[in-house]
Amino acid sequence: MEQSKWVFVTGGARGIGAGLVRMLVKEGYSVAFTYLSSASTAEALAAECHTADTWCRGFQCDMTDHAAVNALAASLCAEYGSPYALINNAGITRDASLFVMDATRWHEVIRNNLDSVYHTSHALLPHLAENGDACIINISSVTGIKGNPGQSNYAATKAAMIGMTKSMAVELGRFNVRVNVIAPGIIETEMTAGLNDQQLKKLRDLVPLKKLGSTEDIARMAVFLLGQGGRYITGQTFVIDGGMTA
Ligand code: NDP
Repeated sequence: MEQSKWVFVTGGARGIGAGLVRMLVKEGYSVAFTYLSSASTAEALAAECHTADTWCRGFQCDMTDHAAVNALAASLCAEYGSPYALINNAGITRDASLFVMDATRWHEVIRNNLDSVYHTSHALLPHLAENGDACIINISSVTGIKGNPGQSNYAATKAAMIGMTKSMAVELGRFNVRVNVIAPGIIETEMTAGLNDQQLKKLRDLVPLKKLGSTEDIARMAVFLLGQGGRYITGQTFVIDGGMTA
């Protein structure tokens, strides 16, 4: 039987990442995903997503650690061959007004949200290019497009991902590696599950569609970009925000 295409997803144990993993497996892709601290959640997700035709494995790997990312990428490519796609999803926030934002908060966000994208892309590019048909999706945010008070560090990384994506798309077009951004608005995750009705209403009121997005909304766009629908699309940003930036 032909081996299923496999996808490398960073930060796949929870939230949007877990939604991506579930949808990818449903669509017939095998998945290697990384996590940092969510070991038991990662193990349960990998077990849930294993099918007869595909594999799904979680790996503890700090995406800020260049050497660790290189080692994981090399061992996966040795075992499974070149991946079909890379989805850079792992990200953190360390919010504060710039007046009081210390250098630790600034650098932590830059390292986790931006250096990580360089690490995975650099490690996997030769393998993706070798495929002759491959994709990279970078999960940015509407904050990278319109900014948000208290998130100058986060906004800087999410905007940088868009510029990096455009450069990579032009650079990698000749290898038929397509590079795109998905920029989510407010998505229902564990974080929003802890909010009360009043707080949720406040969030919904920011959105023209008057509802929050789901992890499936993001995953569906990713699957579209990886499939035939995305074969002539590169260097673009797809905003999924219920109209927030309209
Ligand atoms: P979560 O906080 O729920 O999950 C983040 C994931 O990233 C976790 O699995 C975490 O691992 C992993 N992670 C963080 N840092 C590292 C690291 N250094 N190495 C490996 N894994 C790491 O986030 P969301 O699902 O909410 O967000 C996912 C992406 O979507 C982020 O890039 C975020 O910026 C973006 N986004 C989210 C929005 C939202 O409304 N939720 C809106 C716009 C953009 P572990 O669990 O092991 O700690």
